[in-house]
Amino acid sequence: MAGIELADLSTVYPNGVRAVDHLSLSIADGEFFALLGPSGCGKTTLLRTIAGLEPASSGSVSIGDADVTRVEPGRRRVAMVFQDYALFPHMTVAQNIAYPLRVRRASRASQQEAAERTSAGLGLSELLSRRPGQLSGGQQQRVALARAIAMEADVLLLDEPLSNLDARLRLEARTFLKRLQRELGLTTVFVTHDQAEALALADRIAVMSEGRIRQLGSPKEVFQRPGDTFVANFIGSTPMNLLPGTVSGGLVEVAGARLKPPPGVRLPDGTPVTAGIRPEYLRTSTTEDGMTGTVSIVENLGVTSLVTLECPGEVLVGLTVAEHHEPSVGATVTAVPEPGRLLLYHGETSDLLDEAKVTDA
Ligand code: ADP
Ligand code: MG
Repeated sequence: MAGIELADLSTVYPNGVRAVDHLSLSIADGEFFALLGPSGCGKTTLLRTIAGLEPASSGSVSIGDADVTRVEPGRRRVAMVFQDYALFPHMTVAQNIAYPLRVRRASRASQQEAAERTSAGLGLSELLSRRPGQLSGGQQQRVALARAIAMEADVLLLDEPLSNLDARLRLEARTFLKRLQRELGLTTVFVTHDQAEALALADRIAVMSEGRIRQLGSPKEVFQRPGDTFVANFIGSTPMNLLPGTVSGGLVEVAGARLKPPPGVRLPDGTPVTAGIRPEYLRTSTTEDGMTGTVSIVENLGVTSLVTLECPGEVLVGLTVAEHHEPSVGATVTAVPEPGRLLLYHGETSDLLDEAKVTDA
């Protein structure tokens, strides 16, 4: 077992693309860690650099107590499941699973034993003599996982392992993966561009953009207090409202309302801010002051509906309401943030303003 330590790591491709940019990160032994970010932000490159499949241009990669920056992939005790699974089409399931042992020149008996043991836990026992082409996407994914587990590595690297599955299977595979990781206690780095997947699975999440980490925290922290508007935009199944506002008389003027800033946040009058509030944390009120607007769209989300209000200054505000409580289009509605749910971001830097960061300018 082993943790992972990345220190000032950069990976620059020969064409000059800096896919990982001075990134430092500690992943604990046994942690289920998610790398989350939009396509092209460097997630795959970072995984491949940890595995040793891409050379680090500068900085270092340590696994356990060892600096492995210059160690070849086969000696890093790392198993990687690639996004497309990379199974050998001409080999049976059993041969695919046992392949890492064959490379290590393990005996035929121990290869067979590993294939049987790993496949049993993954529900593949009946499929050992099939070839990948005769398997469903979910089964192929499990074969790729079984092969990674058969390596008996210290670290498991998973590159978007669920993205090729359809929605229902993806949910099943997600639960399954979580249970498997708990049972094996393997340090696992899990790459995804799906924020819901990262929130559901990970102990901690690093949100990446342009080869860097924008925010690092538990799913709760990243969801409740996105550190900047990029993360705020990226996390959440309905996008967070990010509304232009100005500080006036100690209050925040936004969408025609005057809202109390979060406790401890005091800003000079005239400071431009972005008010961040999730649609789920707004409720309607007939008695309180809030953001008042005209209902322009009502979208059915299943158990809830997303209502869009057109507020003064053409500012659009989204809020979710319970089913059977939808207002009609054209109605006038006032939306009030639930206590403690309003976040303020600096209008220019886009960083979250909290007690620690606020200075009296
Ligand atoms: P992600 O997995 O987050 O989608 P990647 O790590 O695949 O991102 O890519 C990060 C950046 O590096 C992108 O700009 C991509 O175009 C570039 N890139 C990826 N692979 C190569 C390569 N082999 N050569 C040059 N540039 C690459
Ligand atoms: Mg990728």
